[in-house]
Amino acid sequence: MNEKHVSYRKCEFNPPERLIISIKSAGTMKLIIFGPPGSGKGTYSSGLKAKFGLEKISTGDIFREEIKKSTGLGKRIENYLLEGKLVPDDIVIEVVALKLKSSTNYILDGYPRTMGQAQALDEIAKIDSIIDINVHEDILLEKITARRICSNPKCDGNYNIADIHRVVGGMEYILPPLLPKDDMKCDKCGSPLIQREDDKPEVIKDRLRVYHKQSKPVIEYYRGKGNVPFIEVWMNRAPEEIVDEIATKLMKIINRE
Ligand code: ADP
Ligand code: ZN
Repeated sequence: MNEKHVSYRKCEFNPPERLIISIKSAGTMKLIIFGPPGSGKGTYSSGLKAKFGLEKISTGDIFREEIKKSTGLGKRIENYLLEGKLVPDDIVIEVVALKLKSSTNYILDGYPRTMGQAQALDEIAKIDSIIDINVHEDILLEKITARRICSNPKCDGNYNIADIHRVVGGMEYILPPLLPKDDMKCDKCGSPLIQREDDKPEVIKDRLRVYHKQSKPVIEYYRGKGNVPFIEVWMNRAPEEIVDEIATKLMKIINRE
């Protein structure tokens, strides 16, 4: 039996010494990860954070945290997230600028998402490399609707119940599920799993539309600049394999410099 199809799988990223030593000698490392909603950006950035000792700066995570804590900012942005709309640039730019002040090695997940945000970032940081995640849209939709999170607001448990094994547009997809040990209860805290409000089909369609309209031009903007190396990957394998592929490509770029 193919090992990838066992129902319980633990997703772990090991930080090999060699990578951490290389990154230290390379100096600062500033990365952006692009990809449509549900392409696993958050998971890959956690893996790269573990491997390279980077800080993961995820605007989506920051916003969800503020909403959970009912802060002033949380209340101002809550409806945008619920409706799958972008939070206005001035708010996002301020939040990120504050974070970046104290960081030298980081991966930006979910930022920049508009041309305004990209221009604001240009003024405060020099990006070393951009990771661009590609995936066919019907695979994406299947994966997003299968995503489940822990219902406990204090827990960050994250799962996926889809088991995909098929070829689309010439690309072979082998995407195993990420199931909890116990029937739809969180491994970390035992709470029931739920679907994120903005992962519901009506909202996903809006998020994808927003991605194509606002964020695609941002990727093209960086590509057009021509001076930032791009790492292209397909979301066609388990996250650990994708993270290894990104890490290998990243090491090549670091060693070339
Ligand atoms: P996804 O990439 O799966 O859409 P995120 O967790 O990155 O999810 O973002 C969730 C929501 O947070 C977005 O739909 C949007 O409302 C808000 N958001 C996150 N990052 C930004 C950003 N850079 N600019 C504007 N809104 C953002
Ligand atoms: Zn939990």
